[in-house]
Amino acid sequence: MKNTKYVFVTGGVTSSLGKGIIAASLAKLLQERGYSVTIQKLDPYINIDPGTLNPYEHGECYVTDDGAETDLDLGHYERFLNIPTSQANNVTTGRIYQSVIDKERKGEFLGKTVQVIPHITDEIKHRVQILGNTGEFDIVITEIGGTVGDIESLPYVESVRQLLWELGHENAIVIHLTLVPYLAAAGELKTKPTQHSVKMLMQSGVSPDILVCRTEHEISDSIKSKLALFCNVKKEDVIQSIDAETIYDVPNLMLEENLDLVVLKKLQLPQDKQPELKVWNEFLTKFKNPKHTIEIGLIGKYVELKDAYKSISEAFIHSGAQNEVQVNVNWIHSEDLTVENVPNKLKKLNGILVAPGFGERGIEGKIAAVKYARENNIPFLGICLGMQMAVIEFSRNVLGIKDANSSEMDKQTANPVIDLMEEQKSVINYGGTMRLGAWDCQLKENSKIKSIYKKDIISERHRHRYEFNSTYLEQIEKAGMIATGKNPKTDLVEVVEIPSHPWFIGVQYHPEYKSTVLNPHPLFVDFVKASLEHSLN
Ligand code: GLN
Repeated sequence: MKNTKYVFVTGGVTSSLGKGIIAASLAKLLQERGYSVTIQKLDPYINIDPGTLNPYEHGECYVTDDGAETDLDLGHYERFLNIPTSQANNVTTGRIYQSVIDKERKGEFLGKTVQVIPHITDEIKHRVQILGNTGEFDIVITEIGGTVGDIESLPYVESVRQLLWELGHENAIVIHLTLVPYLAAAGELKTKPTQHSVKMLMQSGVSPDILVCRTEHEISDSIKSKLALFCNVKKEDVIQSIDAETIYDVPNLMLEENLDLVVLKKLQLPQDKQPELKVWNEFLTKFKNPKHTIEIGLIGKYVELKDAYKSISEAFIHSGAQNEVQVNVNWIHSEDLTVENVPNKLKKLNGILVAPGFGERGIEGKIAAVKYARENNIPFLGICLGMQMAVIEFSRNVLGIKDANSSEMDKQTANPVIDLMEEQKSVINYGGTMRLGAWDCQLKENSKIKSIYKKDIISERHRHRYEFNSTYLEQIEKAGMIATGKNPKTDLVEVVEIPSHPWFIGVQYHPEYKSTVLNPHPLFVDFVKASLEHSLN
């Protein structure tokens, strides 16, 4: 059993400073030094999970192996650390309150008045320590969502205060991430917002051990001294985090600033092994020195907010680097596409990806994009809804079933080639009730998908309610679209492909969630390779 140490990461001044990337970069460096590390995110909103949130509000909903619908930062944690996360890695205020209220209803508080302190804070502390208590980790990094001073964050900061006290200073520390803005008119970096945000944190009884300062310009020694003086930290505990060309540079930048070293010293842990970042840096070299460029179209309906497809765009970075190719992702709104305009709008593309999604808006544009890819031999990857659109397009335009549809889009359709899964028919609540998490899939002999994975059985993550309707399987296969991956237990169709097309694959699952820097996803790697071949022809 390990004596787990805790690092809390709070944020001040503004949101969007990149706490998740700093936490992931620190974790990466500690991992490279031989420590087993995991990262947890506490989200101060009242939703139970982000599964019911509109992607425009909160970006992508990231799904773990155990079927948790979580914050997109968990995607960064997995991509950096190359180890899976789980439900325990993401906790929301909604979840905290739900369990406290459930206990109250069961009479577990023995007649006591249930209050924020101690009941809510006890539940938060319990959730923070769940990962530590597994005995698997030397260090747990807990990122507190939101900004210090927000009403919603108060119980979390209070829980951190209590934990620091209970665990002792050599076992738990706080990193506070702030902004040091540059005032162009004054030609100066300003420390006042950081001073104020540290003061705010201290009013809650928490004193930061380390300041990580986001900045657009180099922070001089004298500014570091000033920050140290005003914020109760040593100068070496003031870490500069300058804007990076890519998030994947941040571990190296933090290494240069000794963030990992300062953390280990404070936690009284050995610092003998140097982080090497060997494979990481090989990836960066390839990523920064591409030999070719390809154009991929990402057809979706949330394209205004790139975070809505975070794991997909990161998977292109990993797989592009692997192929030494720069992947230019063209964000194309499915509502702008029609059968008439696709030849013009999609003509420069070397590969077409139709994205996951929900609801009717934009689906005819997605179907038009599939048709264009299929008829013009352009590499095509359909993910979840994208796969379902490929089946509809094929049924309509190859089989001639003109009204083929998904019952998600048209409940009355006479030809639901995509239909609600049997177990979904009785579902009333929307939250957490889809087919979620990792499921096995058996790949067919001599299929393209099998040649890509080089395995008989794969496990991939799911998030959907509708499925390929097997009533149509025989007709569809006869016409040339083959189901090459199936769930071995239920026979649900997970993969379709068109063998007469150079590269046409639709998957009901989400490969993007499992792509990491160290393990670029094979499906993306092969899709990029096929798109490169298309660009060279
Ligand atoms: N809306 C579709 C379903 O529920 C696809 C979901 C998705 O793309 N994640 O089956």
